[in-house]
Amino acid sequence: MAYEKVWANNPNLNKMELKKLQKDGLKIFDDIPYYAKHGFSSIPQEEWDLFKWAGLYLQRPKEAGYFMMRVCVPSGILNNEQLETLAGIARDYGRGLFDITTRQSVQFHWLQIEQIPDIFDRLKRVGLSTAGACGDITRNIVGNPLAGIDPDELFDTREIVREIYEFFQRNEDFSNLPRKYKISISANVYNTVNAEIHCLSFTPAKKVIDGKEVLGFHVKVGGGLSSVPYLAQTLDVFVTPDRVKDVAVAVTTIFRDYGYREKRHRARLKFLVADWGIDKFKEKLIELTGPLPSKGEDVQKGWNPGYFYGVHRQKQEGLNYIGFNVPVGRLSADEVFEIARIARQYGNGEVRFCNSQNLIIPNIPDKHVDAVLQEKVFERISIRPKTFTGYSVSCTGTEFCNLALVETKERMRRVAAYLDEHLELDVPVRIHMVGCPNSCGQRQIADIGLQGIKTKTKDRGMIEAFEIYVGGTLLNGGKYNQNQKLKGKIGAEQISEVLLHLLTYFKETKLPGETFLAY
Ligand code: SF4
Repeated sequence: MAYEKVWANNPNLNKMELKKLQKDGLKIFDDIPYYAKHGFSSIPQEEWDLFKWAGLYLQRPKEAGYFMMRVCVPSGILNNEQLETLAGIARDYGRGLFDITTRQSVQFHWLQIEQIPDIFDRLKRVGLSTAGACGDITRNIVGNPLAGIDPDELFDTREIVREIYEFFQRNEDFSNLPRKYKISISANVYNTVNAEIHCLSFTPAKKVIDGKEVLGFHVKVGGGLSSVPYLAQTLDVFVTPDRVKDVAVAVTTIFRDYGYREKRHRARLKFLVADWGIDKFKEKLIELTGPLPSKGEDVQKGWNPGYFYGVHRQKQEGLNYIGFNVPVGRLSADEVFEIARIARQYGNGEVRFCNSQNLIIPNIPDKHVDAVLQEKVFERISIRPKTFTGYSVSCTGTEFCNLALVETKERMRRVAAYLDEHLELDVPVRIHMVGCPNSCGQRQIADIGLQGIKTKTKDRGMIEAFEIYVGGTLLNGGKYNQNQKLKGKIGAEQISEVLLHLLTYFKETKLPGETFLAY
C-alpha cells in the first residue's frame, strides 16, 4: 500500500513496525489452520506477536503454548445465541473461565492452537469475531450498554456502533496502526463509557442548525491511560449520526499516517494530539471530511462509570433492565449458561456487559422481575452486592499475563471481601487493581487505584507490593482528575489492612453522604 512505502523510508522504525511491514497482522488468520494441524511447535517464535491480530495472546509462561483469547462485543451487547456460544467455548476449551473486561469484551484462557479453528467457526456462526480485540488495530468499540432501552440516552446508538465496527472489521487499510486504537460511541448523558480515556470518543450533544434542534455528537480525541495518562480533548466540531463513520475513518487515517512509529511507548494517538494541539488536529480532520459544523451544546450531565445495580425502568413501557454484580468480572461457564437460560426465559435473551466488568439483563416484563431475582445464580451474581465487592475492578495479573508483576484478580476479590467483612460504608468506593503500569484495569480513574510492583526487602528479597493512588474521577464539578500516588509502597500481604485503616479514617471524618470523590 502507498502509505506503507512512506513508513518503509523511515530509518528509525521500531522492530514491531518492521515486522508488520513484512507481514500484516491480519494475515495470521490465514496461517492458523496450518499451525492448528501441526501443533504449537510449528509456530515460529517471531510469529507469536502477530497472533494478537487474531485476538490471541500467549499466556504466561509463553513456552507452555496456552492462549488467552479476547472476543469483541461491540457496546457489550450479546444476543442469546452468542452468549450460549461463548459459554460453550469457555466450558469446552477454556477450563470454564469466562472473564468480562473493562472494554465490554470477553476473555477465555487455557486455549490450545489445535482448538482455535473450531472456536473461530463457532464464533463466526453467531456473528462474533476476535479480529481487532488485540493488536495495533481498532479495538472493540465501547458503547452505551443500555443503548436502545435507555431513558437517559439522547438516541439509540446501536446501529452506529455496528456500522463503525463492521467497517473496521478485518479491514486491511487500517490493520497496521502505530499502536492499539480505542473508540467509544455513546449517547447516554451520564458518560457510561468513560469517554475521556479513549483515543476517539463520540459523546452526546445537540445543536440548532437552520432553526432546528439537531441531535448528534461532540468528538474527543487523544485520551489514553497507561504510564503516561492523557484525557481526551474536545474538537470544535458537531457531528450528526450520519457522519460518524466519516469522522471515525478520518481520525483513524490521521493516526495511521501521522502517528509515531519510532518508539512504541510514544506511538498512541494521545502523543500526536498532545504534540499537534487540538486546533491543528481539527484542521487535518476537516481536510479529510470536508466542513463540519462547530460545537453545539454538550448534554452530558455527570458520570456513571458503568454501574447499574438493581431493577430499572426502560424507555419501553412495562419493561425493565436489571443490573448485576460480577465480582472482578469473572464468571464460570455454568453461570453463563444459567444467565443465558434466564435471559431467554424471562427477557428477549439478550445480556449486556459494562466497562465495570458487570452485567445487565434487559427487557424483563414487570410480571417476571420477581421470578428473575429468585433464581439461585443471583445469590452470587447479586443486584445488591456488598460495598467493596460491588465496586472492585481487576485486570488479569500474573495468573495469565506476561507483563504482570503481581497477582491481581483473586487478590482483589479477597481484599474486597475482607473490607466488606470489617467495614460498612454508606457510599461506594471504587477500587481498581492492576498488575503493572498498563491500564487494563483502568486504575487511573479509580477512587483508589492499586498498582502492582516488585520491591526489594532486607529479609525476604523481592516481594509483591502495591503503590496506592487516590482520587481518580472523570467528572468532578467539571474537572477531570487522574488519581494521585500516595508516598510509599505496601507489601501485598498488608494491602487489606492498610486499606481498612485508610477507609476507616475516611468513614470517621467524612460528612454525612459525602462520597470518596464526588461524581
Ligand atoms: Fe497484564 Fe498489566 Fe494489563 Fe494487568 S494491567 S492485564 S498486568 S498488562
